[in-house]
Amino acid sequence: MSDENIPLKTRYKGKKVCDVLIRYYGKAISVRKLPPLDELVMTILSQHTNDANMFRAYKALKERYSTWDEVMNAPQEEVAQFIYSSGMYNLKAKRIQTVLRQIHERVGRLDLSHLATMEVEDAKKWLTSLNGVGPKTAAIVLLFSFGLPVLPVDTHVWRVSKRLGLIDEKVSRERAHVLLEEIMPRSCIPSLNKNLVRHGREICTARNPMCDDCFLSGLCSYYVSLK
Ligand code: SF4
Repeated sequence: MSDENIPLKTRYKGKKVCDVLIRYYGKAISVRKLPPLDELVMTILSQHTNDANMFRAYKALKERYSTWDEVMNAPQEEVAQFIYSSGMYNLKAKRIQTVLRQIHERVGRLDLSHLATMEVEDAKKWLTSLNGVGPKTAAIVLLFSFGLPVLPVDTHVWRVSKRLGLIDEKVSRERAHVLLEEIMPRSCIPSLNKNLVRHGREICTARNPMCDDCFLSGLCSYYVSLK
C-alpha cells in the first residue's frame, strides 16, 4: 500500500460507489484463470485493438507454437506474421519476445508462478520492471491469473472515476492505479474493474453519458456540475 494522503470524504465516496456498483452489477470477481504467461502475452496483443482481433492473434499463436519457449525462439518476423490481426504486429512481436527473454533470464525458465508468493506491491514491481509492461498490464495479470486485489485502469475505469470525482481530472492513467487502489475499499477492488468497465460501456459512455438514467448520479461530481 502507498502512503497517499486521501481525504476522508473521498474514501467515503469510494465506499459508496463500490456498494452501489455491487448492488447493481454484483460482486463476481473478474478472474479469467488463464496461465499468467498467456494473460501477459494476451494483454500485449490487446494494446490498441479490440477483443476480437486480440483473441484471433492469440489463437493463431497458440495454434502455431506449442510452448512459449517456441515463441521466444522463433524468428521475430514469423511471430509477427501470426499476430497480424492484432495490429502493430512487428512492435508487438518484438515486445512479446523481449518480455519472454527477460523472464527466462531472471527466473531460469518461462514461468511466473513465483509471483503468487510475493507481496502484491512486490509482484507489481517485478512485472513492471519488464520492458514494455506498464501498471495496467501488470494489474491484469495479477487480477485475472492470480486473483489478487489489484485494479487495472483502462480507459473506462479512468474516465468514470474522473467524472465521479474519485480522482482529479488531471490525474494520469498511470497515477490513477495508485490512487484508486488507495481510495477504494480493498474488499471491493477485485470486482471493481469489471463493474466500472461495464458502467463505462453501458451508461457512462465517452461521448454521451446517460446521466439521467444513472444510478450513480447522486454520487457524481460531473452530474452536479451540470446543474
Ligand atoms: S452521472 Fe453521468 S457522468 Fe456521472 S457516472 Fe453517471 S453517467 Fe457517468
